[in-house]
Formats: sequence, C-alpha cells, structure tokens
Amino acid sequence: MSRITNNLMRVKQRLELAAQASNREPEEIELLAVSKTFPASDIEEAMHAGQSAFGENYIQEAVEKITLLAKLRPWLVWHFIGPLQSNKTKEAAENFDWVHSIDRLKIAERLSTQRGDCSELGDLQVCVQVNVSDEDSKSGVPLSEAEDLCNVIARLPHLTLRGLMAIPAPTENKATQHQAFASVRECFSQIKAKHLNDIGYEFFDTLSMGMSDDMEAAIAEGSTMVRVGTAIFGKRDKISI
Ligand SMILES: *Cc1c(COP(=O)(O)O)cnc(C)c1O
Repeated sequence: MSRITNNLMRVKQRLELAAQASNREPEEIELLAVSKTFPASDIEEAMHAGQSAFGENYIQEAVEKITLLAKLRPWLVWHFIGPLQSNKTKEAAENFDWVHSIDRLKIAERLSTQRGDCSELGDLQVCVQVNVSDEDSKSGVPLSEAEDLCNVIARLPHLTLRGLMAIPAPTENKATQHQAFASVRECFSQIKAKHLNDIGYEFFDTLSMGMSDDMEAAIAEGSTMVRVGTAIFGKRDKISI
C-alpha cells in the first residue's frame, strides 16, 4: 500500500474514533485533504484511494494543479483555504468550488461579481473565516463581527453561504484547543438559530475547523469539515502556514 493511501486510512480511523467518542456519525464530518506544496501526482494518488475534496492555499500553485487535473472534475472538488488578496479573487472565482477564507466584504463582493461572469460553474460555496485567537498574524473577522458579514454575504448572488472557518493558534494544550473550537461552534449555532428561516441561509451547515494536530478536539466541538495536510501528505518543506 502506498504511503499516502496508508496515511489516509489512518486519518479516517482517527476521524471515526473522534466521532464515536462524541456520539457523532463519522459521515457528518468531511475530510478535506490539504495538498498545498505537494504535486498533482500526490493528489491523484489520494484520489485513487477514494479522496475527492482537496484544499489549497496559494492561488497560482493551485491553478496549475487544477488545470493539470481538469479532466478529473467533477469528482475532484477544490477548496481555497488560504489568505485571499483582492487581486487574486478572479482566479479563485474561476477555479474553485469553495472558498473558506472570506474575512471582509470587499473580497465577498468581488467573488460574487466574478463568479457571475462564469455562471456555468454554479454558485461558489463560501465560509466566513473567524479569528478566535486574536493573533495579529492570522486573518479572520472577530467572532463579534461574523454575523454581520454573514448577513451581507447571504444576499450576494453567485455565492452560497455555507458556514464558518477557523484556524486557532496551534497549541498542545487540549483544554485551550477545545475552548477555541467551542467558541466558534457557539458563534455558528447562534447565527444558525437566529437566521434559520432567512433567505441565503438555506445551506448554512459547515463548521470548517481542525487540522492534523487538533482534529480530535475540533470534532468533539462540532466540526463538520477537518482540513488535514501533514498527516496525509507528510511534512511540508516550504515554510507555510
Ligand atoms: C496548511 C493548512 C491546513 C493543514 O494543516 P496540517 O497541520 O498540515 O494538517 C489546514 N488549514 C489551513 C487553512 C491551512 O493553511
């Protein structure tokens, strides 16, 4: 069995165990394979092992791989999870199925307009990125501003609002991990409860949180999508978040 296939199996086992431990169904939690810095051949290998959702951080690198693997769509589903600058929104709108990292209105508006120009693709699925650790270096809106941004995005054409995404500061302290994820889940649940019947909230079902080192805590706190890179593809040698 190949290394990536073996790693994928282990990660799926971790996901199942974590789901069971909190009385959840493993099917409620989607595994996103984060393939940034790894070549298209690794993505194909993971695909042959049954993986279909892939996450990328750098637009230019991602577009190269997406183009190379174009014939494997729609089986392959591409998620943009990195920081998004205004001058890169067009490529994101034209190439991705999802964008997890919207943290300001301007980016959402540009994605909406630019996705409208390639309407054959259907709506872009989007999450609002929240900042739970108050770190200057991390992107994301404060939890207190997430609802307002969601409300505006819910009304933009060509985007489907799917939920919230968070990257808490890495820590080995389990209690701190749980606390951060729980605060995102609470924010998500409040928005969902409040806007249950509002237009634009029909598909608000995604809590994108948890990575290689903290997926168990994220799943225990309600994650519906874990983004796992290192545990599937190995250590990245490029410096990257
Ligand atoms: C790189 C990255 C991941 C994957 O991190 P690992 O620790 O390698 O699992 C998940 N989410 C985001 C936003 C990332 O940039």
